[in-house]
Amino acid sequence: MNGHTLQTPIEYLKGVGAARAEVLKKELGIHFFDDLLRHYPFRHIDRTRFYKIREVNDELPYVQVIARLINKEILGEKHTKRLVANVRDDTGLMELVWFQGIKWIEKTLVPGKAYVLFGKPGSFNGRAQMSHPEMDLYTPEAAKRKGNLTLQPVYSSTEKLKQFQLDSKGLQKLVAALLEQYGNSITENLPLYILNRFKLMSRAEAYRQIHFPDDAIKLAEAQHRLKFEELFFLQLKLLRTKLLRVQKFKGNVFDKIGHYFNEFYEYKLPFELTGAQKRVLKEIRQDTQRGVQMNRLLQGDVGSGKTIVALMSMLIAIDNGFQTCIMAPTEILASQHYQTIKGVIGDDFLEVALLTGSTPQRQRRLIHEKLENGELKILIGTHALIEDKVQYQNLGMVVIDEQHRFGVEQRAKLWRKNTIPPHVLVMTATPIPRTLAMTLYGDLDVSVIDELPAGRKPIETLHFYESQRLRMFGFMKQEIAKGRQIYVVYPLIKESEKLDLKNLEDGIEIMRREFPLPQYHISIVHGKLKAAEKEAEMQRFVKGDTQIMVATTVIEVGVNVPNASVMIIENAERFGLSQLHQLRGRVGRGAEQSYCLLMSKDKLSPDGRVRLNTMVKTNNGFEISETDLKLRGPGNIEGTQQSGIMDLKVADLVTDQELLTQIRNFVEVVFSKDPQLAAPENELLRVAFQSKTNGLSWDKIS
Ligand code: ADP
Ligand code: MG
Repeated sequence: MNGHTLQTPIEYLKGVGAARAEVLKKELGIHFFDDLLRHYPFRHIDRTRFYKIREVNDELPYVQVIARLINKEILGEKHTKRLVANVRDDTGLMELVWFQGIKWIEKTLVPGKAYVLFGKPGSFNGRAQMSHPEMDLYTPEAAKRKGNLTLQPVYSSTEKLKQFQLDSKGLQKLVAALLEQYGNSITENLPLYILNRFKLMSRAEAYRQIHFPDDAIKLAEAQHRLKFEELFFLQLKLLRTKLLRVQKFKGNVFDKIGHYFNEFYEYKLPFELTGAQKRVLKEIRQDTQRGVQMNRLLQGDVGSGKTIVALMSMLIAIDNGFQTCIMAPTEILASQHYQTIKGVIGDDFLEVALLTGSTPQRQRRLIHEKLENGELKILIGTHALIEDKVQYQNLGMVVIDEQHRFGVEQRAKLWRKNTIPPHVLVMTATPIPRTLAMTLYGDLDVSVIDELPAGRKPIETLHFYESQRLRMFGFMKQEIAKGRQIYVVYPLIKESEKLDLKNLEDGIEIMRREFPLPQYHISIVHGKLKAAEKEAEMQRFVKGDTQIMVATTVIEVGVNVPNASVMIIENAERFGLSQLHQLRGRVGRGAEQSYCLLMSKDKLSPDGRVRLNTMVKTNNGFEISETDLKLRGPGNIEGTQQSGIMDLKVADLVTDQELLTQIRNFVEVVFSKDPQLAAPENELLRVAFQSKTNGLSWDKIS
């Protein structure tokens, strides 16, 4: 027998056959033997001990109890009809109830006899209760037998499967048969030195124990082993992608720091860099000297000062004779970067150009020319700057802001613009939990700015209920009187959602009534507007012509209006955490104390409450993203779908962070010693790896 045995189609397993195979495939995606092996039980029932009735409460999972039947009675009529029996042991009384199969069960129950009961305890009028328990007449042998059954697996099943007798019990039988007949075919895929080092049980043993554990400890060990395997191979794949890229692409060497950087640092940098900014700059410096293409993700909360870091890295590129560009997802953002950068470096230091969809033809041609002859060193723009017409003489570094709007394909386009690809710095203000980043961006290096510039006043976040709306209006007027500007954001999840639109329209109506002309001016921005109208409305607010901007979430990530110091989020309970945090980041950019008001309906779901409380409690984007991950699970976080983490069945990116970090570090060591996995001791990895390489999204980059 060999490993291929487990690739046998499931219909050939004894007890399956064509019809059942069909439903197994359809309902659970089980095509082959090994798919069934990986249909892990989602929990185990503890039959290792007997409970006393006094210990039983509705918090417990399934339990077993030995008790004597006192009486039985059929109560109720028609659909309220039920069989009720009472049992007792030396600690108390418990009620048993059946709603189905009443007649038949009633006959089997003999008052005065002792039974072994098994079921999920509940409570009724403060008394222990169990509905539809499994019951066996008590004999000392029976008790012993049940006692030895230990942990029983429970499998997820479906209505359809149940029609084919493939409920949890049915599946259990199949798995047991499979393990019995083919358990020996489960081959090891981790080398002995790794098993030893991490004290892992063998793969075959792990499969046996995760389904039919000897005890809780063995179960935990089996889960650990299988988690390890999942995370290990995922990291192996990601780091290998990175390695291949490094081998394939040379990188421009920025080995000197020259005039532009020094001049800027000495005379133009308007503040002291934070420790985090210095650290990241150092990381980028190291990356760009190695002769290998840099691919670095720079994470930092809104306002943490990523732009300056990007700019200073670009100056180093320029000092080494290269051109640079910054790509932003929208025109507004691009032109803001343009203004900011022109602002800090000054006019006669270095030329900076802006290239977007609305750059006039003549100017565009001029820019193209200066790019081609190498005269222009800093270009800022939207995706217009990666159009095929745009040719650089020697593009050395690309900064991509808010990367999630840019697809892999678009990024790859940049790569192709040079024979030696430019260094790439991807910036994002949407913090991703560390473990997720390691998996999602596993082939990128990650830098983090985890420190805000000194003296920044933290945004104060308040939660208001609908019934406190008047107070909120009062607050708004007070802030406007101080000269501040205010965002009011409404959810509009899908533009077609009528209810949302109605909310927005009502909201605008209310705002207009509460803040009438000529004293107050309101900008309105939503997805139904044409791009030009949207732009114009935004500009009115940017210029300070309007005090209030009512908008749907179309207001862009990264928009910078320092005078806007209040963010009001309507129906805040309907937004996800990361979105709330992003929106809040629109304020807190000026010298004034800023506020974020979360407006919610009076009654909240438990999750909604956690979200709003989290926002009130913390401004830390990483903390928020961790909570978000816990609430929603990794599958629902943006960008995770094509990443391979969805294949994780046992491992959990929320609870297994430490293990993941450990594995990541270890895999790095493995590759640093044996990049080709050519050493004899890594033979298993090489083999397993070859059978596992199928389409990770980042593969395309290399
Ligand atoms: P983000 O990370 O959101 O892109 P920015 O780079 O736009 O942040 O910086 C936010 C603001 O903080 C800008 O006005 C910038 O000039 C300022 N800033 C950046 N770094 C520092 C620093 N070390 N000290 C003081 N202010 C800083
Ligand atoms: Mg920014």
